[in-house]
Amino acid sequence: MTPLLTIENVAYTYPGGQTPAISGVSMEIAAGSKTALVGPNGAGKSTFLLMLNGILRPDSGVVRFSGRPLAYDSKSLRDLRRRVGFVFQNPDVQIIAPTVEADVAFGPVNLGLPPDDVRRAVRDALDHVGLQGYEDRPPHLLSGGEKKRVAIAGILAMDPEVLVFDEPTASLDPATSGEVMDLLDDLASRGRTVLLSTHDVELAYRWADSVILMGRGRVLARGAPEEVFSDPDLLTAARLRPPALLALSNELAHRGIIDRCPPPKGIAELVDRIERSISDHASDRGGHERR
Ligand code: ADP
Repeated sequence: MTPLLTIENVAYTYPGGQTPAISGVSMEIAAGSKTALVGPNGAGKSTFLLMLNGILRPDSGVVRFSGRPLAYDSKSLRDLRRRVGFVFQNPDVQIIAPTVEADVAFGPVNLGLPPDDVRRAVRDALDHVGLQGYEDRPPHLLSGGEKKRVAIAGILAMDPEVLVFDEPTASLDPATSGEVMDLLDDLASRGRTVLLSTHDVELAYRWADSVILMGRGRVLARGAPEEVFSDPDLLTAARLRPPALLALSNELAHRGIIDRCPPPKGIAELVDRIERSISDHASDRGGHERR
């Protein structure tokens, strides 16, 4: 099957930059996947993501959507941005209108949808992010989490196939981060392809089905989160630490207390595995003593 997005040997240097922000970057993104781009600050994650809907154009290399190389004329970019939505790290960059409703309507209006369709798209998008009743509120008076939801609704209103989130939980408190990640999960479970960048290994480990590790503008590794985050050399190269839950379960597996696979994705799952292992051990011993 053709990957939804293909990136071939892409390089980009910012105007006036001394060194490339990214170079030699190749990867494929499958339709319906949940991909986390993980790496320290300055690794090139945002630069890479900005290539996916044509906000940045590579100096060399090719980005393909559904097998076709991106074109950078204004009509092609408009079409692409309807299909690949980009949610910026800072919602203030994205939110432009004086009310929530006008802001979320901006994309559908620009697409030339008839007024009834615009109203429906705005209502559905606001329902989806849990902001019903916020239509007339001025976005600049909302909390950080609410602004993030407005920005996401603005993208959802265009019904894109791919959603790209640059650092979706940056500067949100833990509860709000959790809510935003639940929303991303919900979007992915409805068949959308979701990519995000983060330096939060705990978040990437729990959420992603595929991790791309970046460092100094290059792809260092790609694979299932438990594979990539179990390699200490890779993590050192990327200036990251392993997710605590994975480090603990790897150590328990190493000591023969639990099986290595499948890696637990939550505390309850890990504790269940330990409990099961203790009770298996006790019944083995019981059987042994009876014999
Ligand atoms: P990350 O998202 O992983 O933190 P970025 O893609 O933002 O990394 O940055 C990669 C490199 O590109 C860094 O060295 C950064 O300083 C540089 N860079 C990012 N944005 C700009 C810009 N607008 N102008 C010049 N250099 C930039």
